[in-house]
Amino acid sequence: MEPLSKATLRETREHNERLVLATIYEGGQDGSLLSRADVARRTKLTRTTVSAVVDTLLAAGMVAEVGRGPSTGGKAPILLTVPDAARVLIGVDLGDRAFAAAAVNLRGEVLHRVEVPSEDADGPEAVELALRLIGEVLETADGPVIGIGIGAPGLVDTTDGAVIQAVKRSWRELPLADIVVSRFDLPTYVANDSQAAALAEHVFGPARAANLIVIKVGEGIGAGLVLNGSLFQGDGFGAGEIGHTVVDPHGLACRCGRIGCLETLASVPALLAAIEARIGRPMQLEDALDASAAGDPTIRAAVVEAGACLGRGVGALIGALHVRRIVLAGPMAAFGEPWLAAVREAARGSALATLAGDTTIELGGIEDIVVLGASALLMTRELGLSLRPLQSPRREPTLGRPPATVAPRARAGVLLRTGAQRGGGG
Ligand SMILES: [Zn+2]
Repeated sequence: MEPLSKATLRETREHNERLVLATIYEGGQDGSLLSRADVARRTKLTRTTVSAVVDTLLAAGMVAEVGRGPSTGGKAPILLTVPDAARVLIGVDLGDRAFAAAAVNLRGEVLHRVEVPSEDADGPEAVELALRLIGEVLETADGPVIGIGIGAPGLVDTTDGAVIQAVKRSWRELPLADIVVSRFDLPTYVANDSQAAALAEHVFGPARAANLIVIKVGEGIGAGLVLNGSLFQGDGFGAGEIGHTVVDPHGLACRCGRIGCLETLASVPALLAAIEARIGRPMQLEDALDASAAGDPTIRAAVVEAGACLGRGVGALIGALHVRRIVLAGPMAAFGEPWLAAVREAARGSALATLAGDTTIELGGIEDIVVLGASALLMTRELGLSLRPLQSPRREPTLGRPPATVAPRARAGVLLRTGAQRGGGG
């Protein structure tokens, strides 16, 4: 028999580390802590292997021992946890109106956040602005940073972290991850902002559903799809790009060059334009929010109309995918109940009743959803950490490994890398 190659041994060790770490992170069904014996049972690894891996993780500070569980006859077992602060994630939101970056812990809590207006930043200047912001938040990071996750506008190739096209920033074939890596030498992942939002709900949200759609409505409209517990991006990363679906061929010109895209009817700029047409003067989003909250009938009517247009798009998604949990996020969601009611009514009215009847459409409760989603992207890809959906069957040890097509940028020893070892990759 041929001996296992060094590479195979290293892969096996990395695989076991990820599996054990993910199992400890998730804990029991009720979130309870696990012992080494529990981990061995769940992972089907031997007790010896689990003990060795746990020793490595303890030494790296990725795992800690916290008290003892109930005894089942013998000595009470030591319980294990992944400390929230074991590693720091840097999450970045390259939003339409502001860029935000935050240091986030392993449970999705924002530790420190910085923000800068981004409305007018364009091309390379916008990239430089993002780099400055990332540098700023890195300086405040209190603990070993595992990398940087970025939610970017437009079409993003998540395998190499390049922005294929983002009209708002005049970016085309922008190798964003490579640029960030060359500046900071940390593993960097980039996803479309709506897809990041879906990951935030999936990894840090309350529901733990296997299937989930998050629709982000701001200057643009995009949906992020989590199907069978994984981000679904389609054949060319564009799954969920519903904003530029033509819904009114006789409608208004869209910034993409077409006529009557969903964005021209249901986005924030579309709403503000509709309000201006109704009242004869321009209005800022903040003022529109106030007027709607105060019950102004003209503003409310425009909000309801925008919601109804979105709702018909949501109905089409329900028909295509029959996903039962749909979450609405982004600046438009601040209109709250009147807008949500309009979206729900139109969605239910435009999808097959049986399908629409068991779908919930709700406003997302996660603040800073793109920052957290970008952090979740980093955490799942780099550490394999996530919470498995409750209702789906348990999967065997492949779980927690990144899809084979995803190559992390600036890869160094995955779990044991710390901020202090930057640049010592191997
Ligand atoms: Zn368009």
